[in-house]
Amino acid sequence: MGESFISAREVAAGVRAGEWTARHVADEHLAAVAERDGEIHAFLHVDPDAVRAAADRIDAAVAAGDDPGPLAGVPVALKDNLCTRGVPTTCASRILEGWRPPYDATVVERLVAAGAVVVGKTNLDEFAMGSSTENSAFGPTRNPLDPSRVPGGSSGGSAAAVAAGFAPLALGSDTGGSIRQPAALCGVVGLKPTYGRVSRHGLVAFASSLDQIGPFTRSVADAALALDVIGGHDPLDATSSPSPQPDHLAAVDSGVDGLRVGVLSEMLDMDGVAPEVVARVREAAEALAAAGAEVVEVSVPAVIYGLSAYYLIAPAEASSNLARFDGVRYGLRVDAPTTNEMMVATRTRGFGPEVKRRIMLGTYALSAGYYDAFYGQAQRVRTLIARDFAAAYERVDVLLSPTSPTTAFAFGDKTADPLTMYLNDVCTIPSNLSGDPAISVPFGTGGDDLPVGVQVMGPALAETDLLRTAAVLEGAAP
Ligand code: GLN
Repeated sequence: MGESFISAREVAAGVRAGEWTARHVADEHLAAVAERDGEIHAFLHVDPDAVRAAADRIDAAVAAGDDPGPLAGVPVALKDNLCTRGVPTTCASRILEGWRPPYDATVVERLVAAGAVVVGKTNLDEFAMGSSTENSAFGPTRNPLDPSRVPGGSSGGSAAAVAAGFAPLALGSDTGGSIRQPAALCGVVGLKPTYGRVSRHGLVAFASSLDQIGPFTRSVADAALALDVIGGHDPLDATSSPSPQPDHLAAVDSGVDGLRVGVLSEMLDMDGVAPEVVARVREAAEALAAAGAEVVEVSVPAVIYGLSAYYLIAPAEASSNLARFDGVRYGLRVDAPTTNEMMVATRTRGFGPEVKRRIMLGTYALSAGYYDAFYGQAQRVRTLIARDFAAAYERVDVLLSPTSPTTAFAFGDKTADPLTMYLNDVCTIPSNLSGDPAISVPFGTGGDDLPVGVQVMGPALAETDLLRTAAVLEGAAP
């Protein structure tokens, strides 16, 4: 299985140079999946024949003297809320069982055009609502570093796939932390780009003003390369940024000399943030200072209200987005005498408990008498958070914080009370509310030798600063 742990850049370089075939790479990764995914359950869908056929097409291109692209032969795993033409896309929900999208998400088209080979679709919390994959209708994913622990969520399958050596690159979606938190818990790199940097066309919507697609990788350079491939304007997503992309990969090794780094004080003082996690963040700040950065403490006062605002805005948008699953247009239909009864029966059977909770919370927050007190108020808090971040970014280039308050927790630890689970996202949610980019990079370990992730945040479209900071941390990690 050793060979399945090489980086995306190494795989592509070898395939382009004819040192090894995409078919060989695919077989190695399929063997790793066959050996261990019965236990890990990172994937909901793998079609080995289709994987081999895709790899053979890359090899044929190389043999014909064509360059398949910067991801030549790189196995990629896709969160199962990304549309794949003709391939089941379930969002880990019963309500989408049997549905096959008629088109590919833009990110999938771009990966394939760059030479990537899709290995399969990964497990998630149903409709990306959760922080542990325990909300999947098809059973949880296990953390490859300790199978008695959760991999985080909601993109737990994608994080686990990368950590287990099933693919050097996976895509996830991040609405409140769903790329960064599982990356932290599985010891891999996870990047949430700026809202609008990556097209959402073909991502099944959870909360449209917060959702963003991004990569999981085992190195910072691979994350930069992945962003170079999937980012950039897409006319099919009206919120997609028209500004041209820099070359992220080229910037990765430029160091942090003179970069102004702020340690975000509120996120070190928050309730529930483990002392070992705070210690790793402080060590990360010291490592950056040693590498030439100017490090200061910075306050971003409104971030402490992020969680409350998010749990009104995200469910409100979800209640509206999920209205489309009505038994008529997609997947499951439970027959009943009238249309109304059919819809009720379909939604009652098709959605799991957390999705129903969010739909009810969101519907309530948007209802006529309460709209301004809940949804309107949350939107005002969102503006305050964006303003406080903007003020901080006048003083510093990037901010440092924990990604997740703790290392990977055990199954069942946080399922009794929804609020306990929601608290996992205190440090990640604020960047979704402001729309700014953030990355989680592994930096040492906490209790039980499990990985700790340090989060680097920055202003809109400052991904290159995030990536070069993360690269320094990667090099300095204990
Ligand atoms: N855990 C958060 C939630 O349950 C974030 C999910 C996400 O980013 N998709 O909403």
